[in-house]
Amino acid sequence: MITPYNPSVFNVSGVDSRIAAGGALGMLHAPTAPPPQAVLSSILELERIKVTFDHQQLEEPFYKIHSSKCKSWLCPKCRVGKGLALKESLMNKAYLFKEPRLYTITINREFFKNPAEAYHYVMDNKFIARLLTKEMKIKCWIWILEAQEKNGDGWPHWHILIDVADLPTKWYNRTTKKSQYTKPENTRGWRKYNNFFDLNKIHRLLHKWKIGGCYLSEKKSSFKSPRHAINYIVKYLIKTPERFFPQWMLHYTGLRFYNPSKALGSMSAEPRKVKPKEQEEEQEEEEPEEKEKKTKPRLPIDRISECGLKYYFSYYDIEQDKMIFTEPAWGLPGSIQKILGAVENKDLNFKTQKEYSIWGFKHKKDVERFEHIWDNEDLLYALAEVIESKKQEYLNQWDEA
Ligand SMILES: [Zn+2]
Repeated sequence: MITPYNPSVFNVSGVDSRIAAGGALGMLHAPTAPPPQAVLSSILELERIKVTFDHQQLEEPFYKIHSSKCKSWLCPKCRVGKGLALKESLMNKAYLFKEPRLYTITINREFFKNPAEAYHYVMDNKFIARLLTKEMKIKCWIWILEAQEKNGDGWPHWHILIDVADLPTKWYNRTTKKSQYTKPENTRGWRKYNNFFDLNKIHRLLHKWKIGGCYLSEKKSSFKSPRHAINYIVKYLIKTPERFFPQWMLHYTGLRFYNPSKALGSMSAEPRKVKPKEQEEEQEEEEPEEKEKKTKPRLPIDRISECGLKYYFSYYDIEQDKMIFTEPAWGLPGSIQKILGAVENKDLNFKTQKEYSIWGFKHKKDVERFEHIWDNEDLLYALAEVIESKKQEYLNQWDEA
């Protein structure tokens, strides 16, 4: 079914608001005033120094085009970069996991109406932090959320990586499930464990709190190496699940996919890159009334269906001595390659030492022309159709698999 073009579908600021946001004439976001050449030259002329200004001599910056990404964990395009950034962050703290262990916390489905309710209950009450920090005295831990793909309906479960090095040595009786610090008189049925992690206590608490259970993830000795364990756990964030994500996750705003303990400190899942202005502003502290005005956060399914369908430009502004980012606008960044005046440059990835292509314009007038090309009802209508079909594809993947 074809729906008529409606700009609000895109939920993006139109031409007017872009200009209001700082763009001068035309659509380019160019907040700076031109250099005061006239003033300068007249002063110099008073000093009897002859000055002629040639505007062509002022070199224009390179206007580099970027693709605007949704940065959602549910986006197949964005999660890889985020996952790798988190992995790097974690690897830098691998030394904190002296005795790493991997477990999985699962949900007892009888306690809940649906997966979303279970997720909300566990998160809202901060049960995992309570369990690990307060009850089990684990200092360093991190959990990673995954939706159960194989046996069912996308119920949440949490992979946890913990460091048990601080836990004391204890004696444990398998039959009675009792544990104690001192050696029992009769050691029959008892075993001494270094860094004793009391799984029975965990099961008891998870049952009491009406959550579910906790299980050893996999019995692999390689997980005794912190780096192996980190590799294993972040895999769930980097890889896109075969079935994609269940409906409830695609419609749940504010899903958390990982959380480190306080002792582990903050972790970054943001690929190291300069951020466009729009995203920088999102993270800034807001005035209270601004918060009230702020519209409801958008659904993940809407965000990920639009990923990569907006472009923005960046350029170095000599006057301000800083990078300027234009506001993201609807359009395919790749289309620049077919536009007259587009230039391909090479950039170097310092990490991999590999060159990669960047595209842009040498002249502001070309940028403006590109913006005008995309400010076209038919093209925006076509984009809306792309978004809609992506959305349907994402929504149906789980059930079709
Ligand atoms: Zn994305």
